[in-house]
Amino acid sequence: MKIPQHIYITDKKRETKEAFEKIFQTENPEKLLVVTSISTIKQLKWVFDLLARNRRVEKHLIKKNDKQALEKTIKRIRKDSFDCCIGIGGGKALDIAKYASFVEKVRFISFPTLLSHDGIASPVAVIRDGKHWSESRKAESPYAVVVDLMTISRAPAKSILSGIGDLVANLFASIDAEVFEKKCKSPNNELAAAIARSASSLVFPSFSSISIGRISKKELKQLAWGLVLSGISMSIAGNSRPASGAEHKISHAIDYLFSPPVSHGFTVSIGNVISAFLHRRYKNEIIEFNLSLGLPVSCEDIGIEKEEFVNAVLYAGKIRPDRHTILEEKKLTKKEVMYLLDEIEKVRGEVGG
Ligand SMILES: [Zn+2]
Repeated sequence: MKIPQHIYITDKKRETKEAFEKIFQTENPEKLLVVTSISTIKQLKWVFDLLARNRRVEKHLIKKNDKQALEKTIKRIRKDSFDCCIGIGGGKALDIAKYASFVEKVRFISFPTLLSHDGIASPVAVIRDGKHWSESRKAESPYAVVVDLMTISRAPAKSILSGIGDLVANLFASIDAEVFEKKCKSPNNELAAAIARSASSLVFPSFSSISIGRISKKELKQLAWGLVLSGISMSIAGNSRPASGAEHKISHAIDYLFSPPVSHGFTVSIGNVISAFLHRRYKNEIIEFNLSLGLPVSCEDIGIEKEEFVNAVLYAGKIRPDRHTILEEKKLTKKEVMYLLDEIEKVRGEVGG
């Protein structure tokens, strides 16, 4: 089990500079590869300049997180003997840099520009395979994570919402892991579950009273820590189970069947509601929470018809059968899913949406 050796949440250029100095204090890399996109590096040239002060640094620009981009990055690290790799970006650059570093056994540093998911510190990399499908590959946690709040606060509000939705999922994933401990192949790691659950408590339910457009640095820092801790819980468990249960299966099924143009945390948020209703836990609270923040409650909120969405719920129960969740337990029929969606709608009406 590897967890990040350095975690810095910084708020000024000087603090970010000091964070890198500490990271490189013991082992200064000779050659550092920066994996990023062209638009990101234009905005964050100052980070590149900071890194280039005492070592050889080169850029490797990527557009996608697909297999071709991954192969090219692996070859680049190998050919030019880079001994450290930093991913600067939202998701794609981090995924590619994380997995390529894992294959080539070099240190990986994560510098997220968005707080939209818990991949910023997790040992999992998402690699696209074809148009609709993406594969979650097991890699290693970053050696270091630097979250620069100045950069994060300039990101779209939707990315913050996505991160919140992804973090709330830990609550439902940990309920799945706890309730179905005996039905899963791997044992439930209680430390990992406790970390994942307390990470989600940094935002749920307290963030329901915040205004996303006016989110403070303090709240952003709280979200950043939550997402980092979520990643660490996966490293401790040795799998993504503390942060991924039935709600993530729903999210994957939606992505696979409909590829909606919304962030990961939005489809996960719909999964959070389904999971809450199936477990009969936090039903009103999750609807209130999503509505107050502007996260989706049901499929119609992201433009998917109810009749179509039923197929996603049915399909979700067939994803990763080794990870037993409330979906495999209930083995819902089409009629039962319709009934469930009606119930969600009813409670939504009562709660006030
Ligand atoms: Zn997720």
